[in-house]
Amino acid sequence: MSLLANRPVRSRPVGRYAPSPTGKLHLGNARTALLAWLQIRQLKGIFILRMEDLDPARSVPEYALQILEDLHWLGIDWDEGPDVGGPCFPYVQSLRNHLYEQVLATWLAQERIYPCACSRKDLANLARAPHGPAEEGPPYPGLCRQLSPEAWREKYQKKGQASYRFLAPEGLLTYTDGVYGTVCQDVKAVVGDFVIRRADKVTAYQLAVVVDDALMGVTHVLRGDDLLSSTPRQILLYQALEASVPRFYHVPLVLGPDGVRLSKRHDGTSLESLRAKGISSEAVTGFLAATAGLLPSPEPLAPKDLIQLFSIDKLPREPFRVTEKDLKLLGL
Ligand code: GLU
Repeated sequence: MSLLANRPVRSRPVGRYAPSPTGKLHLGNARTALLAWLQIRQLKGIFILRMEDLDPARSVPEYALQILEDLHWLGIDWDEGPDVGGPCFPYVQSLRNHLYEQVLATWLAQERIYPCACSRKDLANLARAPHGPAEEGPPYPGLCRQLSPEAWREKYQKKGQASYRFLAPEGLLTYTDGVYGTVCQDVKAVVGDFVIRRADKVTAYQLAVVVDDALMGVTHVLRGDDLLSSTPRQILLYQALEASVPRFYHVPLVLGPDGVRLSKRHDGTSLESLRAKGISSEAVTGFLAATAGLLPSPEPLAPKDLIQLFSIDKLPREPFRVTEKDLKLLGL
């Protein structure tokens, strides 16, 4: 696609950390950021920070600033990003909508995507029908694609807005994940034709992340394994863009003492509150490194001291559960 012709030439590995400013960074986010940074610094590559603030209802500008500050505090730096610029500027998704729109226009002309005017009620009715092992509700069976142009127009007039769905091909998609090994998914059977632009005109994460990683020349995507099931969909989008697919490394998440994945409700584990309690960034880094198998036990270190120790093979494959004891050891 012509959009890709303007990409900068990259002669080194390129990695990124792509937070959504929907909350404060907690120990789980910090661990993922640290591992992504260590991988690229060990490879002497380029590290990008990209702010994924597409959803206006959930993104908060203050969190975006706080995230940059927290990562700096931790000792993580980036070669390209919202605050330092770079050849792929802007590094903020809300300022990149024209690029996503260009891809949508091309794919619409190529009939790779189609507008969908299904209402929430239509989709809820699907959910009631018996369905397979979908994680995100039943696969979308292409209702709007099967309508005649007249029937579609009538449906659209009733709803007044439409999303765009990517036409998922039949068959099994297989890729090798750097942590999970061989991953297979029949996207058509599991998720069906999937939304790449929402009816409220917000670009869906799946499209934006692929367009950005492709345009920024990202070669290594290390991120939380909550996104493992999105990856086959994203690979389909890389293929449609005729862009090379990066290597993926999906790392286990960090759980709170309650066994629930860390989130805003575990405010005590946010970097901001650790810092406010006077805990050093080295103590946090050393703790995270130990949870990732890079140190036998926590000891205060800066991220740069861990570059040579990084190995994805040392990473435990199960989620890490932070215990009350860990928090006490950290000084909480
Ligand atoms: N913005 C996404 C998140 O914060 C991460 C996207 C990615 O790394 O692909 O969960």
